[in-house]
Amino acid sequence: MKPPPFGYHAPRTLGEALDVLAGTGEHGKVLAGGQSLIPLMNMRLAAPAHLVDINRLGGLAAVETGPDGVRVGALARHAQVERSAGAAAVQPLLRQALRLVAHPVIRNRGTAVGSLVHADPAAELPAVLALLGGSVRLARRGGTRDVAAGEFFTGPLESALRPGELAVSAFFPALPARSGTAFREVSRRHGDYALAGVAALVRLDGDLRVAEARAACVSAGPVPVVVDVTAACGAAPAGAADWEAAARAVRERIEPEDDIHATAHYRRHLTGVLAAQALREAARAAVEDAAGNAGNAGNAGNAGNTAGRAMGHGAGDAAENTAGRAMGRGAGDVVGRDGGTAGQEGAHG
Ligand SMILES: Cc1cc2nc3c(=O)[nH]c(=O)nc-3n(C[C@H](O)[C@H](O)[C@H](O)COP(=O)(O)OP(=O)(O)OC[C@H]3O[C@@H](n4cnc5c(N)ncnc54)[C@H](O)[C@@H]3O)c2cc1C
Repeated sequence: MKPPPFGYHAPRTLGEALDVLAGTGEHGKVLAGGQSLIPLMNMRLAAPAHLVDINRLGGLAAVETGPDGVRVGALARHAQVERSAGAAAVQPLLRQALRLVAHPVIRNRGTAVGSLVHADPAAELPAVLALLGGSVRLARRGGTRDVAAGEFFTGPLESALRPGELAVSAFFPALPARSGTAFREVSRRHGDYALAGVAALVRLDGDLRVAEARAACVSAGPVPVVVDVTAACGAAPAGAADWEAAARAVRERIEPEDDIHATAHYRRHLTGVLAAQALREAARAAVEDAAGNAGNAGNAGNAGNTAGRAMGHGAGDAAENTAGRAMGRGAGDVVGRDGGTAGQEGAHG
């Protein structure tokens, strides 16, 4: 099918784009990568009277990294963010999640910010933004506002974006010290939206016990569902934390629905399984992060001790432990800041 007729605008500056959007109001829609909007228009599920194509606004394509986090411009493609070594170093969850978004050809064109505004509860990046407590910067003629992730996603395919506004960037906070992340999901075919998926973040305290553990679930409700499972883990050393109890807490909180792909019951079960896997993997990464930081601080000899302590080993045997051995890592089980790839792709089904 072809889309219904629409007016096409190709502004060359941000000011021009905001003027057009102010003029078209609720009849105008921004066109970024077009990987979601164009199929919807072709299927006549969306029929904006005006498209405002922002692809000529090169100034919006930057991916900026700093100690506080990663700011992703509205024209930064999924692939660009995925390949950014700086972004992966500051916030590894971005790359872990983006590898699971659709296929490379879609990631070459689709934008990270477009995915956030599209607000599909089955999409990976909204869950990442919600888990990390990030924000989206919205510009309109005459001003900008930052909307926190908690207020940005308002329903399935609905966000806080108002008519006349353009999302100029999104901010993903940096990974805190002694922390790790992971993303696990299952989809029917590689590249499909996930039937269920979980992003996890685990932060350890100075004694390498779990100080904070959170999971964000996709396809588990009308918006990404963030569950704080810190209490369920009970401040245990990373290797001894009760991730199954955490998974039960996640299952109790989510509200998946039946659809043609899966029953709500199956999604609830699967989300729990993935939550336990993702949290365990994030904890491993946190242990490695703590060990790496100890090494970077000139305590290379203590790195093994650090990981050993996290696993509840005494000082005597800790010296022999590397983080990987201490976590009982199996062959092919990739961990660390870029970790989880093998496991995630294995789980992709
Ligand atoms: C076969 C296929 C599989 C896919 N699988 C996945 C998947 O597994 N996971 C996943 O997350 N996504 C998936 N996608 C979607 C893909 O990630 C899209 O790129 C993304 O959802 C939207 O980004 P876009 O830049 O293409 O936005 P567009 O399609 O251009 O726009 C989408 C919506 O966001 C609005 N919008 C976009 N940018 C802005 C902006 N800067 N300011 C204001 N409004 C804006 C548009 O007006 C429109 O309403 C898939 C797409 C396809 C075709």
